Amino acid sequence: MRQSRLFTKARREAPAGEVAKNAQLLIRAGYIHKELAGVYSYLPLGLRTLNKVVQVIREEMDAIGGQELYLSSLQNPELWKKTDRWEQDVWFKTSLNAGGELGFGWTQEEAITNIASQHVSSYRDLPFAAYQIQTKFRNEERAKSGIMRGREFLMKDLYSFHADQEDLDAYYERAAEAYQKIFARVGLGDRTFKTFASGGAFSKYSHEFQTLCESGEDTVYVSRKKNIAINKEVLTEEVLADLQVGRGELEEATAVEVGNIFKLGTRFSESLGLSYLDAEGKKHPVIMGCYGIGPSRLVGAIVESLADEKGLVWPAAVAPFAYHLVSLGKSGDDISKTADALYDDLQKAGKSVLYDDRDLRAGEKFAESDLLGIPKRIVVGKEAAETGTFEVVDRASGKVEKVPRTALVS
Ligand code: ATP
Ligand code: MG
Repeated sequence: MRQSRLFTKARREAPAGEVAKNAQLLIRAGYIHKELAGVYSYLPLGLRTLNKVVQVIREEMDAIGGQELYLSSLQNPELWKKTDRWEQDVWFKTSLNAGGELGFGWTQEEAITNIASQHVSSYRDLPFAAYQIQTKFRNEERAKSGIMRGREFLMKDLYSFHADQEDLDAYYERAAEAYQKIFARVGLGDRTFKTFASGGAFSKYSHEFQTLCESGEDTVYVSRKKNIAINKEVLTEEVLADLQVGRGELEEATAVEVGNIFKLGTRFSESLGLSYLDAEGKKHPVIMGCYGIGPSRLVGAIVESLADEKGLVWPAAVAPFAYHLVSLGKSGDDISKTADALYDDLQKAGKSVLYDDRDLRAGEKFAESDLLGIPKRIVVGKEAAETGTFEVVDRASGKVEKVPRTALVS
């Protein structure tokens, strides 16, 4: 894409009143727009990155047999009354002109369990897992963490359905492994820990995936030896004994919860009438698990973790473009002709390129390029136009390489 046509503009100053580093940088770079506290719009660059994150998550959910669907946001209160969750503070509710109330979905156990009850009748219908990537609404009390805590945000929620506990337990482990792969692929693998957190009526623990990050809202205790963490909320002698972890090996850290997996057991299937008949014709409630990740929170966590004093730094897997082609020419001169031709050939070679073809000062272009955080910057100056060898700068390390044209376009 030609940057002269990109309608969003980078700006020097962070917007007043925005305290979170992730939102400050993303707004300055033109990736997002703040509508209200905790409510953000995704602009073309931001959406490209968000979609990359979503695609990584989608691939890993598909790999563990997840069937993608898309549930409605508007929720029927009758379902939520059956599980006693209609009266919670987290809801945004609205009323119909025709009379009656609706809610905007903040999670979707009730909806999916109700749908499953119309399709599952026998043990032969189990197990299965279904997921969606959908906007959630939560009336969060505090919204000071930028896109890491939105009142409207994207969530991937997967739900699994099983005939027995063993089957849920095995699937739960597969889901946990898929989560580790996701966090590794988006560049947070080395700082994201499977974290023991409070369970519920059906299991002693649930698991969060916590990314170490100064601006996180959670406190965790990390055991590097065991490659796990424990949420402060559940740190007791009993938990340490369960996990065979000594207090001495724990490191206190601030972290952000990027994912959460939970064994629901029969909490929802009992309330909403989701059951199956076994081979002997005996009726049982279906056993469920749920698995959430916030793609938008993940984008925020990547920014917080990897950005430097110059701006955003994207891992290749989630960058809006692979290359930032920066021409130092003026339209019509040899440099800009060289840059135009290289842009065409990079595109023909299937590379994704943002091409800064604007007539601006070099310093201004480089500063903006640093702010945007695209992994590789190809600089087209006088020398490149004369020799056909280009300077390629790695955004993360600052390392400069000289690369011949043929290597770039192959
Ligand atoms: P938290 O403890 O941070 O409030 P939660 O435990 O309520 O989150 P879940 O209901 O488990 O979160 O949601 C699943 C995932 O959705 C979370 O792990 C997180 O990645 C993401 N998420 C939750 N709330 C928000 C939010 N307000 N903004 C952005 N992402 C969110
Ligand atoms: Mg939580």
